[in-house]
Amino acid sequence: MARHIESVCRLCRRENLKLYLKGDRCYSGKCAAERRSYPPGQHGQSRAKFSSYGVQLREKQKVKRMYGLAEKQFRNFFAKAERQKGITGTNLLILLERRLDNMVYRLGFANSRNEARQLIQHNHFSVNGKKVSIPSYLVKVGDLIELREKSRKNAKIIDSLEGVARRGIPSWLELDKDHFQGRIMTLPNREDLTMPIKEQLIVELYSK
Ligand code: SF4
Repeated sequence: MARHIESVCRLCRRENLKLYLKGDRCYSGKCAAERRSYPPGQHGQSRAKFSSYGVQLREKQKVKRMYGLAEKQFRNFFAKAERQKGITGTNLLILLERRLDNMVYRLGFANSRNEARQLIQHNHFSVNGKKVSIPSYLVKVGDLIELREKSRKNAKIIDSLEGVARRGIPSWLELDKDHFQGRIMTLPNREDLTMPIKEQLIVELYSK
């Protein structure tokens, strides 16, 4: 992912949506998007008018930032979604959900997708018994994601798992907290993905 030098909270404020990029802080009263619910910058509080292109662009930026992807990676995912049967926008969201970093985050092993990405790159996880260090690895139905034996005393991960009840686990995933394992039971339907995303706007943007 491209590195952000500025605070990631500014990204949430720019998109006027909590993107949950900072772990615990996102669930506390310290969340910048709640405390200052207007875009950052000198003209943040003046009312911005967007063209239809601007609205489409903001939607794409929002989803890209939510999953922590660079433009090129996001484009690649979109191209893959377009090649699949079905509705491109829904395909895109499901593909993004299948990323291993997203799975590790959704299962509660990490407090944010960014943290999940770092843990994966540091070899803390295996998929179906094989070490995987690629955050963009696409998990399939039935795959078993497991925290490796050597990492089971990692305080950060244990702390994240303790807080998993607060976030909840999506119905299409299963977590066995005692054995540090998670499984994807089925692919999510569009209705299962409750984030406020209008994926059709992204399809329109890339179809120009
Ligand atoms: Fe976004 Fe979390 Fe920062 Fe709130 S605390 S603005 S949700 S990154």
